[in-house]
Amino acid sequence: MATSMNYIVFDLEWNQNPDRNAPPNKLLPFEIIEIGAVKLDEARNEIDSFHQLIRPSVYHWLQDTIRQVTHMHMSDLRKGKPFPDACDDFLRWCGSDYRFCTWAKQDLTELQRNMRYYHMLDLLPGPVVYYDVQKLVSYRFLDGRDRPSLEHTIDLLQLPKDQGFHRALQDASYTARIFRQIEESYLTGYESVDAFQHPVNKGAEFTYSSGNRVKYISHEFGNRDRAWNDKRVRSVYCPVCSLPTFREGEAGNSRVQWLPGNTRVNYCLSYCLEHGAVAGRLRLKKTDEEKYIAVKTLWLLADEEEEAQMKEYLETLREKKGKKL
Ligand SMILES: [Zn+2]
Repeated sequence: MATSMNYIVFDLEWNQNPDRNAPPNKLLPFEIIEIGAVKLDEARNEIDSFHQLIRPSVYHWLQDTIRQVTHMHMSDLRKGKPFPDACDDFLRWCGSDYRFCTWAKQDLTELQRNMRYYHMLDLLPGPVVYYDVQKLVSYRFLDGRDRPSLEHTIDLLQLPKDQGFHRALQDASYTARIFRQIEESYLTGYESVDAFQHPVNKGAEFTYSSGNRVKYISHEFGNRDRAWNDKRVRSVYCPVCSLPTFREGEAGNSRVQWLPGNTRVNYCLSYCLEHGAVAGRLRLKKTDEEKYIAVKTLWLLADEEEEAQMKEYLETLREKKGKKL
C-alpha cells in the first residue's frame, strides 16, 4: 500500500521557572505542559487531532503570566501524563511519514529540548525540515520579513474566530486553518530547517535544496569569529546549478560582501552567469553548548523587480554600516 505524507500541525504550551528566589533549570528553561496537534492529509484535509496534558516534573507551580494567559491549573496538569509517555504517544500518533507545521520557530525547538532532557531525542533525528506557517503567511500575504501574531493573521484572512487562543489544540487548529490558505506553490522552496540538532563534527554540514533555494547548516565552531571567517560558511553559489556566483559585473570575483542587517542576520547579492541574481542570508547561532553554527540560505531571485528590491535593501544596509564606521 502506498503511503502518503501527512502534515502534523502542532502547538505546545509550556511553563517556566515560577520561583523568583530560585534559579531556573538551565537544561529545561521551558517545561512543556500541553501538546495539541491536528493531522492533515496530503490535500490538507483534517483527518485527526491529538491532545495531551503533561504532568510537570521540574517546575511545580505555574508561573503567573502563564497561568493568566492559558487559564490552566496545576490540579489539571497533575492528572496529565509524564512527558516521556506523552511525547511517545504523540510521535506514535504522527505516524511514519509526516512533516511538522508550527506557528513560528520556538515550538519545535522546545519540543526537542524537552526530549533531550528526557534522553529521547533519537526518536526525532534532526536537523528537522518543517513549515513555519507564520513565515509562509509573511511570504504569501506580507513582505516576507514581517512576523504577524496568530490572532492578527486569523483577522487578516477573515477566518472564523470561534474559540479562544493560547491553548495548544486551539492554536494548532487555528494554525492549520491558516496553513490551508497558503497555495500549493508556496510549499516548495519555503520549508524551514530547525538547527537545534546540527552537525557537530568538523567538516560535516547539512544542506537542503528545494525549488530555487538551498539551506546550509554548518558544523560547530568554538567561537563567532572562527565561524564567520570560515570559507564554506561565507561561500555563495547558485542554488540551481551549484556553481560559484560572483559580484555584479565582475565574473571571476567571488569575494561577495555580506552586509549586516537587523537582528544579526547578514545579506548578500551575487550572480550566476547562467541563472542570474542569487540572494543570500546568513546568521550565526549560539548553541545551548555556547558554540556557534552558521545557517545560510541562498535563493534565486524571481525577476528584475525582486533584484531591484534586494539591491535597494542592501544599499540601506551599506549606508547604515558606513555611518557606524
Ligand atoms: Zn546557476
